[in-house]
Amino acid sequence: MKENKNNVCIILLAGGIGSRFNRKKTKQLIKINNKSILEICIENLKHSFKNIEIQLVSNKNNINEIISISKKYNLLEPVVGGKERQDSVYSGLVAIYPHFPEYVLIHDSARPIISRRVVKELLNSVKNKPICVIPIIPINDAMRLVNENQEIIYIDKKNHFLVQTPQLCCYKELLLAHQNTNKIYEDESSILISMGKKINTIKGDTMSLKITYENDLKILEPHLNNRNNVTKIGVGFDIHRFDTKKIDDEENFITLGGIKIKNLKSLIGHSDADALLHAITDSILGVINCGDIGLLFPPSDKKWKNFDSSYFLNQAAILLKEKSGKIINIDAVVICEKPKILDYSNQIKERIGNILKINPNRISIKGKTSENVGFIGREEGIAVIANTSIQIIDDIDDD
Ligand code: ZN
Repeated sequence: MKENKNNVCIILLAGGIGSRFNRKKTKQLIKINNKSILEICIENLKHSFKNIEIQLVSNKNNINEIISISKKYNLLEPVVGGKERQDSVYSGLVAIYPHFPEYVLIHDSARPIISRRVVKELLNSVKNKPICVIPIIPINDAMRLVNENQEIIYIDKKNHFLVQTPQLCCYKELLLAHQNTNKIYEDESSILISMGKKINTIKGDTMSLKITYENDLKILEPHLNNRNNVTKIGVGFDIHRFDTKKIDDEENFITLGGIKIKNLKSLIGHSDADALLHAITDSILGVINCGDIGLLFPPSDKKWKNFDSSYFLNQAAILLKEKSGKIINIDAVVICEKPKILDYSNQIKERIGNILKINPNRISIKGKTSENVGFIGREEGIAVIANTSIQIIDDIDDD
């Protein structure tokens, strides 16, 4: 999804004290699996809105923490809000003024799950030049009004809806509305309604629950833990041939899985010809769809000649980390007549675990001979097949 960077800005409210929340910490800063609700919300927003400026509005107490989160995600410099939500929104509106957005999306960070469909519909609505568009959801339970005399009065739920965020507003209209009122309103649409402005609605999403009470967090927690997390599998294959020009020598060695193994024949090819590290690197690059070793480190480039292949594996791990991917396991088969892989598999697992900074028990290295068949059987080379499974956020849209 691509937006004009200057067309829409997001104001993300992160200043709620959470008076109905039975914890000392500001609810947006409560961590789930080492990530605060605010960070989860930012990641979800960034996933839904590419190339868009996000303006955080904090309370005074948390400003330092909010500044560091803001830096981490490369957001606009946060501002401190006011006592009421309305004051905080106004602080945000003033802060983004230099960006002259045509539209602004106001979102509560206490609503960390953001529906991609809702986002898409809100952004699509911009072309009709609305003043304000809000996501609403119908009320499923029956409704009654309890008046000041504790009398129960019937209300037909049919025409009643709950309002969610993000709310899309015309920046100029909302700024003016804030400047022209001295009353306190619940949210952006209610200010604009009070000014007689037309409000459009789209269907909201019940998953976009606002964390208000402790129980809300319990309901959302499993979903926050597994945000679009999927397991992806990458495959890598590599072959290197033995150097036939070099005579068989006790001093010869091959580099395999990042370790040096004495072998009568030595391998030739890209860099240090470590077919195992090359295959594993390709399998990781495959998961994140970043091409392969030959594309990233072309063999035509002289600088990779005899190069230590642990560098390539490490670079793949860095690219994977940027996408918050986590290796679940690596399973590789080394096909050769010699050396006997079993004698070295533990040492190789340790080395690869060390390069990737993962537990070696996540790595399986198996040896297989070619039963004297074909080029491997004739001891002309070594082949490797590697599979890597990775837990990663699925950031691909099919529509
Ligand atoms: Zn290779």
